[in-house]
Amino acid sequence: MYTVLIGAPGAGKGTQATEVKPEVGPHLASGDMFRDAMAEGTPLGVRAKAYVERGELVPDEVTVAMVLERLGRSDCAVGALLDGFPRTLGQAEALDRELGKNSKRVDQALYLAVPEDELIRRLSGRWICRVCQTPYHEVSQPPKTAGICDKCGGELFQRVDDTIETAQKRLGVYFDQTAPLIDYYRARGVLDEVDGSLDVGRVRDQVLAAVRRRKSI
Ligand code: AMP
Repeated sequence: MYTVLIGAPGAGKGTQATEVKPEVGPHLASGDMFRDAMAEGTPLGVRAKAYVERGELVPDEVTVAMVLERLGRSDCAVGALLDGFPRTLGQAEALDRELGKNSKRVDQALYLAVPEDELIRRLSGRWICRVCQTPYHEVSQPPKTAGICDKCGGELFQRVDDTIETAQKRLGVYFDQTAPLIDYYRARGVLDEVDGSLDVGRVRDQVLAAVRRRKSI
């Protein structure tokens, strides 16, 4: 099954992806791919850096090529969980064309709905594990030891694009360019909406139920 996770920055896509991954398949997170490429200083990373740091979208041709190359590998032959991609209508159409070549399609678009004020609160205070990507929040979900991941002992870091100004910019970009995908997938009959403002465990239960429902169709 091919599932795409849609939601604003801070909606909990990364957190929920960890829960759903065993049900769906490899977790392809475009933001993580860009951050890895930037950390390694590859040509892709150098090209993406300015966009990521400004909170803007990396141009479609760069992003589509990167994600479709990964999606073409053998471990994605029967399914994948796409997190943070597609983020524009152009990307969604490119994904449809690519899957369509092998008579496949996006089977499910899981939309995590969260109000804007809650998104800003979550983003400004977010810390992420460098090793396993588990997110924490200074106030609502602090780690047991400051700066250290509870799960794997990895170092926690704050993303350069999680400042209030850049977070607001990223939300604007989301509402302009990504939110139209909700109607795009609704029109195709594959949209499942989950209330992402609930606590993590309740969101996980709803997300897993939605994934299992789709798998059984
Ligand atoms: P994320 O970790 O998903 O919030 O992504 C971090 C940043 O990576 C975004 O603000 C963009 O600059 C870039 N990025 C990630 N996914 C995409 C995408 N599908 N299209 C364009 N840019 C992206």
